[in-house]
Amino acid sequence: MIDKPKITVMPKYVYAFGGDNTEGRSDMSDLLGGKGANLAEMASLGIEVPPGFTITTEACINYFKNKKKNKFPAGLWDQVKASLSDLEDKQDKLFGDADNPLLVSVRSGARVSMPGMMDTVLNLGLNDKTVQGLAQRTGDERFALDCYRRFISMFGNVVLGIEGEKFEAILSKKKASRKIEFDTELLVADLKSVIKQFHTLVRKSTDEEFPTDPLKQLRLAVEAVFNSWNIERARAYRRMNGIPHDWGTGVTVQAMVFGNMGESSATGVAFTRNPATGEKHFYGEFMLNAQGEDVVAGVRTPTDISELEKTMPEVYKTLVEVYQKLEKHYCDMQDLEFTVENEKLYLLQTRSGKRTATSAIKIAMDMVNEGLISKNEAISRVPAGQLDQLFHPTLDPKEKIHVLAMGLGASPGAATGKVVFTPEHAQEMTEKKEKVILVRIETSPEDIQGMNVAQGILTAKGGMTSHAAVVARAMGKPCITGCGDLTVDVKKKKCTLNGVQIKEYDSISLDGATGRVIKGQVSLIRPRLTTNFTQLMRWADGVRELNVYANADTPHDAMVARDFGAQGIGLCRTEHMFFDEERIFLVRRMILADNNKVREEALKKLLPIQRTDFTEIFRVMDGLPVTIRLLDMPLHEFLPTKPKEIQSLAKDMKISRSAIMGKLESLTEVNPMLGHRGCRLGITFPEIYRMQVRAIIEAACRNVKKGENPVPEIMVPLVGHVNEFDRVRELVVEEAEEVIAKAGVKLKYKIGTMIELPRAALTADKIAEKADFFSFGTNDLTQTTFGLSRDDSSTFLPDYVDHGLFDRDPFVSVDQEGVGHLIKIGLEKGRAANDKLHVGICGEHGGDPDSINFFHDLGLDYVSCSPYRVPTAILAAAQAVIKAQ
Ligand code: ADP
Ligand code: MG
Ligand code: MG
Repeated sequence: MIDKPKITVMPKYVYAFGGDNTEGRSDMSDLLGGKGANLAEMASLGIEVPPGFTITTEACINYFKNKKKNKFPAGLWDQVKASLSDLEDKQDKLFGDADNPLLVSVRSGARVSMPGMMDTVLNLGLNDKTVQGLAQRTGDERFALDCYRRFISMFGNVVLGIEGEKFEAILSKKKASRKIEFDTELLVADLKSVIKQFHTLVRKSTDEEFPTDPLKQLRLAVEAVFNSWNIERARAYRRMNGIPHDWGTGVTVQAMVFGNMGESSATGVAFTRNPATGEKHFYGEFMLNAQGEDVVAGVRTPTDISELEKTMPEVYKTLVEVYQKLEKHYCDMQDLEFTVENEKLYLLQTRSGKRTATSAIKIAMDMVNEGLISKNEAISRVPAGQLDQLFHPTLDPKEKIHVLAMGLGASPGAATGKVVFTPEHAQEMTEKKEKVILVRIETSPEDIQGMNVAQGILTAKGGMTSHAAVVARAMGKPCITGCGDLTVDVKKKKCTLNGVQIKEYDSISLDGATGRVIKGQVSLIRPRLTTNFTQLMRWADGVRELNVYANADTPHDAMVARDFGAQGIGLCRTEHMFFDEERIFLVRRMILADNNKVREEALKKLLPIQRTDFTEIFRVMDGLPVTIRLLDMPLHEFLPTKPKEIQSLAKDMKISRSAIMGKLESLTEVNPMLGHRGCRLGITFPEIYRMQVRAIIEAACRNVKKGENPVPEIMVPLVGHVNEFDRVRELVVEEAEEVIAKAGVKLKYKIGTMIELPRAALTADKIAEKADFFSFGTNDLTQTTFGLSRDDSSTFLPDYVDHGLFDRDPFVSVDQEGVGHLIKIGLEKGRAANDKLHVGICGEHGGDPDSINFFHDLGLDYVSCSPYRVPTAILAAAQAVIKAQ
């Protein structure tokens, strides 16, 4: 019996749920973590939840602040003991009692779900004495011993830091010696011997006996769960998902219920709708005589939930009632964990389920039709950043394929790549730009980074709700699980699929929709967009205020962008156009020319080629603005550097090698990013810019003559001083007017500039006087504001994010405080000087939902992003409006 201690210290660190007092609510997930908050909510809804209590994330944060002293925050432990004593009353059992022991689970849970990233300990409170009490009370010694062996291995792993494989090895050896396959076949004597070996393993690994005092067990487990917030895989998961490192985790201590009490008990996982496709049907799996992680970890391949209706019809009926109630209550698709103990159903978790983008859209649309949510809610629900998943390739149905094996189609989409067997190897190969398929017996949270880089994932074990399946769906990656005909030999680096041997680096393909594992490479095609997607885009168009343009350098990219609804091109870079074989020769000739005549000849030959580029882009974007940036790249980047290439260039150009080397040397810069580039080139080599303007305007004039409606906008890069802009502007106007007059057509064009230097933003009023538009080049503006070269930052920038110095990588999500402030200044000054000024951004941030939200709030006219991000930008722009309402 635990004495109720007096509590004097304030912050409330512990919140009870279940039985007759529930203190938490679903909207308290910041404090209680999602798991704790939703357990409390379910208890309040009258759903059967084993009672317990949740320690707040605040306690975790304070524990880390106290870390040096390695102490719980003052008052925490007393509150825990008080709540434990209440729990004893609720359960009519006593913690640590040899006759009628209370057992608990100690679970982690952050504000947002981080599936399997942190740790959980089940069956806590067992020792050599209480296990006997459990056996006697239940009349099932085998069951009690099964709990005990699970507890020692989980506690040994999570709390004492002993590798899980060591426990697994003992268990596997026992099964092998008994010639049995499953844990459930272990008999009392086997379990006793396993437990003895587990104890020995603990003693040898820690130099101490396994802790028998349940209170000590609890204290250590709570600490371990706190600490699991900072284990590497949890940090990696947060990095990948942009979750801050300072939230901390809640810890839920909850009375155990047992799914491993024989054939009338079970444990399972279910989704209220299909998380892969969004279809409206109950989706899930269960396993008889099993506990906790067995389903997710794939120790056996679980049974489809529909079977439960046959095995335990009453339980199934209740489960259906509960899931419908939960979905209605939360108005969202839920991911549930349940356990059946002797035909009685308990809910152990509910949360908003992870889903693919396809599924997210379908569910949102259906829920609007069902009257569960509003249109705006539907728009806000679909994660804008995930929309590009919809454009992932699928199998070409015309292709002949050789199916090697079938598994469960756990996450749709097709993938082709070379087989690797470990997550580390997947990362290595990807760094070498290889595409890989990660093949595993099953995945665990340690595999997360390898899964992140793989094209697709194939596992031998595990079901549709296994770790691999859930994580792959959230990543939008093709995944096949439960492939029974797959055997994997990680050591020998090979596997077999229905007897066919596949070695490391052999190519295979996966069809994640149907579960087919295919031999070799297959060709992939772009999927057709669903009507749900089109509908969602239409709704978003009706709401958003920002215009969305695309960054596109080729007619093909322009076409993709226009099909997705881009309203113009915000950035057409001309340098990429110079890199094919014929052109690069002319460009090099122009650069290497030692007199104007040779240079002009080369430019003359380039002119018609450039003109054709623009003609086609204008045609694709007919009627919509096309913003073309004049040459920006430093000239030396067009010259070869390898001796061999220099040699052959010298030969082609009929000049000496040393002349080329000399030129190269004279062009080479210490700091090319801040060197002779952008409008500085146009000022020293006006003939280059003149040629480009001529090509643009001639192309437009020709299109006008054909009855088309081109809208050219000429953009001057890297302006820092108004005089630079004015000088280039004069040149552009002169050239353009001449071409237009000669063509005898009516053509309107605009001249504007990129704002990508702090000085340009600070003096934007002056520049705006003669500019038609500003386009904030947020990539360069980030580099020049931070004084940080993006290309050189990869060695230290990730550490900044990891250690919390920066919240986000400023090249991914715009730095609102610094760079954003410059944009604000530039925008305000620019508009004040010229009320017709059209203002947008064209950096990669134009496709980042958080940045788009910021740009909307600032009041920009448009964002421009890469073609496949256009739908993301459209949706994010609509979400920004709704958020601000
Ligand atoms: P995760 O966040 O990784 O899912 P959980 O804390 O949910 O970890 O627990 C892991 C597994 O243990 C889940 O399957 C869960 O349902 C099960 N579990 C947790 N607490 C209990 C309990 N009190 N009784 C029975 N099973 C439990
Ligand atoms: Mg869980
Ligand atoms: Mg730039």
